[in-house]
Amino acid sequence: MTQELSTLIEQDKQNVWHHLVQHRQYLNGEPPIYVKAKGCTLTDIHGREYLDAVSGGVWCVNVGYGRESIARTVYEQLLEMPYYALSAGNIPTIRLAGKINGLMPDRSRRIFFSNSGSEANEKAFKMARLYARLKTGKEKYKILYRHRDYHGTTLAALSATGQEERRMGFGPLVPGFEMVPESFCYRCPFDAAYPNCDLQCAHAVEKAILAAGPDSVTAFITEPITAGGGILVPVPEYFPTVQKICRKYDVLLIIDEVVCGFGRTGKWFGYQHFDVQPDMVTMAKGMASAYQPLSATAVSVEVFDQFLADPSDKFGYFRDISTYGGCAASCAASLENLRIIEEEKLLERVTDMGAYLLDKLRELEELPKVGQVRGRGLFAGVEFVNDKKTREPADESLVGRILALAAADGVL
Ligand code: PLP
Repeated sequence: MTQELSTLIEQDKQNVWHHLVQHRQYLNGEPPIYVKAKGCTLTDIHGREYLDAVSGGVWCVNVGYGRESIARTVYEQLLEMPYYALSAGNIPTIRLAGKINGLMPDRSRRIFFSNSGSEANEKAFKMARLYARLKTGKEKYKILYRHRDYHGTTLAALSATGQEERRMGFGPLVPGFEMVPESFCYRCPFDAAYPNCDLQCAHAVEKAILAAGPDSVTAFITEPITAGGGILVPVPEYFPTVQKICRKYDVLLIIDEVVCGFGRTGKWFGYQHFDVQPDMVTMAKGMASAYQPLSATAVSVEVFDQFLADPSDKFGYFRDISTYGGCAASCAASLENLRIIEEEKLLERVTDMGAYLLDKLRELEELPKVGQVRGRGLFAGVEFVNDKKTREPADESLVGRILALAAADGVL
């Protein structure tokens, strides 16, 4: 190793606080450091190549690395006009809002831009709360979320996250968030077996609304296919049933497309696999394939129009901003990203390659420690278990060893 490399690694160890990592593991080792990327291949600081099977580690580099046209588009937009707060318009943002609306033909929506998935969800929560108060004059502020779904790192997004390990130690969290069970047949929270299960997972939403008091619930947030919580694909009837329940109680349905959006599952958005028309859709990650930070909250015009309803209400509009939601180059990057997805027919390719991937992964289900393989499109997970019969989840140490062996074989 050259002196320059060992200095860089040492500086990393001394100065960088890596995300999600217990740094004790680096006391006698070193963190992975990537220096180059092309297509689906990453090269680390020692020149070793890896197949990046998780698209940037967190499902976001949807069009792959090394896209020169995105880099050029960003460069040109930065020179032309990098920024002005989104209280005013700019050309890439106007074009992108129209484009995104066209990708969701089920409803017409207004697009509020910000810069991370967590922030897109925060905006959705704030909009839902203010909307309900303006519409009903009541304290209709509670937000339901599902066990195992993740909605972000900020405190309200975390309060809507059904993964205890993510929340531990960070309380008190934000009041007004209540958890409902997930839709997950392999580990059904109701010990039932689809299709003879009366869709208890969907009806649990109604039970939760009634328990909380229908006048107090403004929204239900859910991932279309749970990502970090284990690649949980709901049964086809789940979303139509949940939507009916939400409409019955005037509860907004927020679908978090931060991972599933922009082709990950073979459609523009994950919800488009199901018969559902969400009131709000939040998105980030694949929106600009992580070449630039960008997110958005897309809100039905019916909700948007509520903020125009009362001309005498001085505070009856959405008084909110996101500084970097005004970065014109992020929107330009997104437009070019979408052009690539369309020109290269990547949705069709995800569908074909995804079917092949799942087919091959399913062969692993014969192994004693593989409980189930699940997924949709290029979005797949392998659930490890200690025991196939009892479905006892695998020990973390086993999963850690499997991941380390895969990395040693050049697969992340
Ligand atoms: N929503 C989902 C489903 C996610 O998986 C994530 C991040 O992984 C987020 C929201 C938060 O996005 P960000 O990390 O950009 O804040």
